[in-house]
Amino acid sequence: MGETLGRVHSVESFGSADGPGVRYIVFLKGCNMRCKYCHNPDTWAKCGENDGAKLMTPQEVLKTAMRYKAYWKQTGGITVSGGEALLQIDFVTELFKLAKEKGVNTCLDTSGNPFTMEEPFFGKFNELMKYTDLFMLDIKHIDDEEHKKLTGQTNKNILDMAQYLSKNGLLPVVVIDKELSNRMASTIRHNRARGAHNIELMCNIVAELDRAGMSDQWIMKNIGMDRDELLRLKQISGLADLFANKDFSIPDNKPEYMP
Ligand code: SF4
Repeated sequence: MGETLGRVHSVESFGSADGPGVRYIVFLKGCNMRCKYCHNPDTWAKCGENDGAKLMTPQEVLKTAMRYKAYWKQTGGITVSGGEALLQIDFVTELFKLAKEKGVNTCLDTSGNPFTMEEPFFGKFNELMKYTDLFMLDIKHIDDEEHKKLTGQTNKNILDMAQYLSKNGLLPVVVIDKELSNRMASTIRHNRARGAHNIELMCNIVAELDRAGMSDQWIMKNIGMDRDELLRLKQISGLADLFANKDFSIPDNKPEYMP
């Protein structure tokens, strides 16, 4: 134990979005995917590349994390994320095993990309499952062709992983407890920012927001969309009711010739 060095990109002491409760999050280096919307491309570089990773033993990581134990209460704990944490599965397994010995909740945030039922990975994965309380499996797209376009990689093995976890009583579940309008706004903002948006889906989301009672001002403000883009999406949708009681044809500063 302790001989496996983790290649750590960074840590976050008080994470609240990567697992239940307050969490100490360890971001590991290395990823095979190239998601168009990746927030952390500086984590991509893998072992052997000059990437500035900090080398740490599982004991060192756990010792540092335990300083924050008082904040974890009943639900918090340690999350390992990335990059892609499964590329360093030996390190994660050692860290989680040590954490469980101290009664710490463990969570793995993964894209599932390295998953395979081939050995030696599969045996290692089964070992990791013994010490992992929660798998957060981030499936980037359910359609394989779309997944390839979005990430450069197939999702077949990722869906295999989801099925395998499910069969073992570790069904990955995503619970989003925000209002529907906020969820849609977040999705459309995310896709636009990364240039991965699909016009038809954008139109559908705008239409849904409109029908949910969100004003044009709300949509523009929360999605960061200007009125021209919103107007275009509504026009493309071809739904007349989206224009009901709206004054989009009137510019901000009306020309003098307009009443
Ligand atoms: S799996 Fe995560 S780290 Fe890798 S490219 Fe995609 S978003 Fe970035």
